[in-house]
Amino acid sequence: MDLKQHVAIVDGWPKPGIKFKDITPLMNDGEAYRYATDKIVEYAREREIDLIVGPEARGFIIGCPVAYSLGVGFAPVRKEGKLPRETVKVEYGLEYGTDILTIHKDAIKPGQRVLITDDLLATGGTIEATIKLVEELGGVVAGIAFLIELTYLDGKTKLDGYDVLTLMQY
Ligand code: IMP
Repeated sequence: MDLKQHVAIVDGWPKPGIKFKDITPLMNDGEAYRYATDKIVEYAREREIDLIVGPEARGFIIGCPVAYSLGVGFAPVRKEGKLPRETVKVEYGLEYGTDILTIHKDAIKPGQRVLITDDLLATGGTIEATIKLVEELGGVVAGIAFLIELTYLDGKTKLDGYDVLTLMQY
């Protein structure tokens, strides 16, 4: 299946000069969404994943159906102030300024093999921060899966040494 047919490219959104990759048409098409999910499920099975971890909000859209299919759990990574119980946090750099991502302290058991999921790899900052949270809690990052990689931003160099799957490249 040509998954790219189901990605809408929005010129000039959210800012001039950006060509935003909108995955909502892919989610909207049952066959395409299932096809992409199944590819990630297959990748996760080969790596004997115990738990899926995804950053808000599109990491949930990718990770939750994979978790359901494998019969493993899902742990959300969220912006500061959104999770109700004790968390660990990490600060990471954005284009302008910094942001904070958090995860519940009891979300991962030490030694669990974790698959991190998100819709898109751009500079890699979001996933680098997510990796830090997983490893701080003793999880083993056994795989990282994205629908889309923006190869020209070279985010993969931040993920050097990790096992990465991307279903589409631009
Ligand atoms: P990074 O931290 O620079 O790798 O940016 C990745 C994050 O920004 C992901 O969580 C994406 O959801 C979001 N993102 C950046 N560019 C796009 C885009 O073109 N389409 C959808 N999400 C994007």
